[in-house]
Amino acid sequence: MLKIHPLFIYSSIPLFLSISSSSSAHFFQNISSIPTSSIPKPTSWDNFHTLVGCRTGQNVAGLSRLKQYFQHFGYCNYSTSNFTDNFDDTLESAIKTYQLNFNLNITGELDDPTLTHLIRPRCGNADIINGSSSMNFGKVNFSYSNSGGSKYIHSVGHYSFFPGQPRWPPSRTTLLYAFFPGNQLPENVKAVFGRAFGRWSEVTTLTFTETRLYYSADIKIGFFSGDHGDGEPFDGVLGTLAHAFSPPGGKFHLDGDENWVVNGDFVNASSSMVSAVDLESVAVHEIGHLLGLGHSSVEESIMYPTLSSSTRKVELDEDDIEGIQSLYGSNPNYNGSTTMPDFGRETSGAHTLLKSFLIICSVFGIFMDSLL
Ligand SMILES: [Zn+2]
Ligand SMILES: [Zn+2]
Repeated sequence: MLKIHPLFIYSSIPLFLSISSSSSAHFFQNISSIPTSSIPKPTSWDNFHTLVGCRTGQNVAGLSRLKQYFQHFGYCNYSTSNFTDNFDDTLESAIKTYQLNFNLNITGELDDPTLTHLIRPRCGNADIINGSSSMNFGKVNFSYSNSGGSKYIHSVGHYSFFPGQPRWPPSRTTLLYAFFPGNQLPENVKAVFGRAFGRWSEVTTLTFTETRLYYSADIKIGFFSGDHGDGEPFDGVLGTLAHAFSPPGGKFHLDGDENWVVNGDFVNASSSMVSAVDLESVAVHEIGHLLGLGHSSVEESIMYPTLSSSTRKVELDEDDIEGIQSLYGSNPNYNGSTTMPDFGRETSGAHTLLKSFLIICSVFGIFMDSLL
């Protein structure tokens, strides 16, 4: 049976499928307000650490789960979903490609750096689609050198697009976004998305306007738990955080089971608070997909697939800006540096007043992108 990946679904999925699994989602003003009962919760990926040192030819419990992981993100193409625990050549090849994409030493073994990377929370979109990678694996200009017996890669990876380079048509310079009514999101959460859209409109010719007409909006934003009808179920705390469809799909789904931090304040984060996720960081990344960008191997870029918990990363990197401007052109007012305020770091009263003003404006339906 053909499995349809959300990246290639351009038509609307019947919304009743999503409604049945809607989530009220968990939002917290800052990391300190997350109750200890919510943290930490181990994810199914944490068990990958038990696989350290596994090599080709071995049979180790848990390798089938790892194969499932690689299959999901496009690193292998087993003909069955009944994965075995054999460390076969296909798995070794998948590990090597993963190591290439994430700028790790290409050993083909499950070494500690590789496993540490594998368990990081990440975007649910695949890194390799129909055998073509948007990351290092899909680039050609690699140079190799040997050092200490290990092979190192010097990455030239940069921004990329989905296969076929889908984008919103030139006639659509203003895109409408709406929030799934069943989530009943508070205004301060909606304002986070307004800021995230603003980061992309600041550097392009695109503008984004919130509408209350969810079903006719270009971009539909919703928090859902587990299976929500598009064949890409969410997996509870951490693991996959969100996913989004390429243009003109417009669907932007976030895992309702995460502990979402709204104001970006991770200053008081302790090591035990491992399950907090910065909402704006994830929103900025997924909007990149909604506009047509694929994943990038540039670790500083917004389009890098992983985001460590309790981490804020909201500034567009040069890699992201070059990529999006090659699709949509540059904002005539963009002078080479972004000016978006980072509310997560603000301390001044003036910024607090500005934030309050923006939230009030959003309550009255004033368009956020025209203010930012
Ligand atoms: Zn992504
Ligand atoms: Zn989804």
